[in-house]
Amino acid sequence: MHLPGARFGFGPSEFMDSSHQDGAYAQFILSFGSEPCDSLAMQTTTQALATLPLKPAQIKTDPDSLKYYGKDWTTYFDIKASAIVFPETTEDVVQIVQWARKNKIALIPSGGRTGLSGAACALNGEVVVSFERMNRVLQFNETDSTVEIEPGVITETLQEFAKSKNLYYPVDFAARGSSQMGGNIATNAGGIKVVRYGLTRDWVTSLEVVTGAGEVLHLNNSLVKNATGLDLRHLFIGSEGILGFITKATMKLAAAPPPLKVFIFALDQLSSVMKVFSEFKLNCHLQAYEMFSEKALKHVLHGTGLARPFETVTDFYVVCEVEAPTEASEEKVMSVFENCLEKGWVTDGVMSQSDVQAKNFWRYREDISESLSTYSPYKNDVSVSISKVPDFMTDLDLVLTTAYPTWEVVWFGHIGDGNLHINILRPEGMKKEDFVQECRKVDELVFKAVQKQQGSISAEHGVGLTKKSFLTYTRSQSEIDLMKGIKKVFDPDLIMNPGKVI
Ligand SMILES: Cc1cc2nc3c(=O)[nH]c(=O)nc-3n(C[C@H](O)[C@H](O)[C@H](O)COP(=O)(O)OP(=O)(O)OC[C@H]3O[C@@H](n4cnc5c(N)ncnc54)[C@H](O)[C@@H]3O)c2cc1C
Repeated sequence: MHLPGARFGFGPSEFMDSSHQDGAYAQFILSFGSEPCDSLAMQTTTQALATLPLKPAQIKTDPDSLKYYGKDWTTYFDIKASAIVFPETTEDVVQIVQWARKNKIALIPSGGRTGLSGAACALNGEVVVSFERMNRVLQFNETDSTVEIEPGVITETLQEFAKSKNLYYPVDFAARGSSQMGGNIATNAGGIKVVRYGLTRDWVTSLEVVTGAGEVLHLNNSLVKNATGLDLRHLFIGSEGILGFITKATMKLAAAPPPLKVFIFALDQLSSVMKVFSEFKLNCHLQAYEMFSEKALKHVLHGTGLARPFETVTDFYVVCEVEAPTEASEEKVMSVFENCLEKGWVTDGVMSQSDVQAKNFWRYREDISESLSTYSPYKNDVSVSISKVPDFMTDLDLVLTTAYPTWEVVWFGHIGDGNLHINILRPEGMKKEDFVQECRKVDELVFKAVQKQQGSISAEHGVGLTKKSFLTYTRSQSEIDLMKGIKKVFDPDLIMNPGKVI
């Protein structure tokens, strides 16, 4: 899927259209703690740009570019970037950092801009550093099954490269056609295959970074074993650009997956969703386990014109992908399915008979976001430990239906790893700014429920701007203070993505 230009609603209280410039939005933005843009600082930056040692073609300041590159997928921030710069080498990045330190200018690393937390947004005249031109696949090492890449490589390009070597890059999600590997590493992206293959963190064998002090570090050198103290590579994974720039990465590739079967199940109880998960996890090699509600399915059917997967209408559905390389394993998978039917956990289900059908089954899950986009949904991405999912969902459902009995709440998510997406559709006739204000209260309710289950207020989309003021629901003040201290070590002048995360 290629995303730029498309418009979905994402992130806490995130909306589709461009009405974010009005007063209510301004207030809303202020509630995220961002500072008003300092026009003097912007002027100074513009003057300082003349001394930046890059080619003129590597700097853009035209209004369209500032708007286009100055933001991620969130749509409610008032974007004010001073310039966009396009490094082509690590040396360029070093020069940019040194220049920024000297001139006290804030920098924002920018990847594919598919982020959903505002982490790549420029609100205060920062200079955006786009990695679009550092997009080469560098060296493939067959023995190590690794590939060195520049940060601007698109996720799908890496997936295709792996395929061309008969290998597999397993981190996969709907933004694959636009998101960049630098952004994936900086957000520790997850997606639909986490149950089987883990997160981006698990596939990074080494990093080259330029810190906020302008120092180039080579972290881990692709070693499998390296017991020499703190592994700084892991500090940069998930750091959302607050410590420095990722300028190269070596990624491990997996063996190509065996033939897969995709099921869609109907389940009438939430508790059954987890029972079926355990049954498949124990007895088969599970690749993905994604849940969605009848409300989500209805919107997909309406939005895509797809037919129902089967006649049974129920509260919950699951897309379950399993490895079935041999006839024996296929039989095993079928017997697990039949067992779930017999126990009454699954009330209906279908198994894919071809790759094309498997792809179509995935559409019921992957097309949800697009189908909901016309309703300006309030979206949230949270996680609890897998065993706590039913309690959490029951709790939160009760809280939301009590507080907002007429609102439509749509659930879906990577339930196999405890990650849920909560989508609330704007009630018909409700003014957008009223909905926005109300959604800030919803955030409190959602995060309190998350906290009760010791979960995370951001499962995989990061903290950025949108969740910064709620960080204490998941991280202690001591942890946040330590994070601030660590930032200062790598970024002594605090020029790296200021105001984000902590
Ligand atoms: C339709 C859709 C579906 C999605 N599904 C998922 C999903 O299933 N799982 C998931 O995890 N995410 C998902 N996302 C969110 C998003 O795609 C991920 O967070 C992705 O990893 C962001 O990558 P990006 O290149 O677009 O980064 P950007 O949005 O450009 O930036 C994200 C962060 O990374 C930093 N950054 C970017 N490049 C660098 C660099 N070179 N060095 C240092 N910091 C850098 C930025 O400053 C920012 O803090 C989805 C988004 C969309 C639109």
